[in-house]
Amino acid sequence: MTPPLPGALVLFSGGQDSTVCLAWALARFPRVETVGFDYGQRHAVELEARVAVRKAMTDAFPHWSPRLGQDWTLDIHAFGAIGDTALTQDRAIEMTDRGLPSTYVPGRNLVFLTYAAAIADRRGLASLVGGMCETDYSGYPDCRRSTLDAMESALNLGMERDFVILTPLMTRTKAQTWAAAKSLGGEALVDIVIDHSHTCYLGVRDQRHDWGFGCGTCPACDLRARGWREWVALGRPATAP
Ligand code: ZN
Repeated sequence: MTPPLPGALVLFSGGQDSTVCLAWALARFPRVETVGFDYGQRHAVELEARVAVRKAMTDAFPHWSPRLGQDWTLDIHAFGAIGDTALTQDRAIEMTDRGLPSTYVPGRNLVFLTYAAAIADRRGLASLVGGMCETDYSGYPDCRRSTLDAMESALNLGMERDFVILTPLMTRTKAQTWAAAKSLGGEALVDIVIDHSHTCYLGVRDQRHDWGFGCGTCPACDLRARGWREWVALGRPATAP
């Protein structure tokens, strides 16, 4: 096994969680690159948010600017075509009879991590950082830490590397993720999350709420808004990530 190198690749969708993960990585690693996936999302809004967040981050935190390297956007439409979910087709967003939201794309994070590890291998980056979280979501099986531990083993065997998959938000509630943003970058980072990160499943960017832009009613907006309200009710604390 080759020794770990001091660099990280962040799985970066432009959403709230991956924006906080990007800040978390920039605070720790001297070299950070980002990767995003275009798998036929209904809204190019998500991909545009990635560019906006990266720019806002380097504008607001100049000391992070030299650390932030290349951005990779990979076209994986073939995977999106398999998905057949509300994210990739015009189906209603609802809970399915498996107890999973219809936005669930089977094995999505396994695919993302395989691509990410291939890039990380070529770029000499040893840490893969993702915003997977097992607290607020009822059951995305590919977001669970046990899945990611198995994936880490598979990648290291299959690529003969020593990758680590880091998931700083794994045990956090959405309120705690807002707190982490404040801890990492103060109100400036909270503002970046509000103004530039995108979470809404419907791609709405013309309705602004205290917690950011979105339709306000889809499950993603609901989760984000509830986390915000909980954080505000606690007095907007900052907690160490
Ligand atoms: Zn929404």
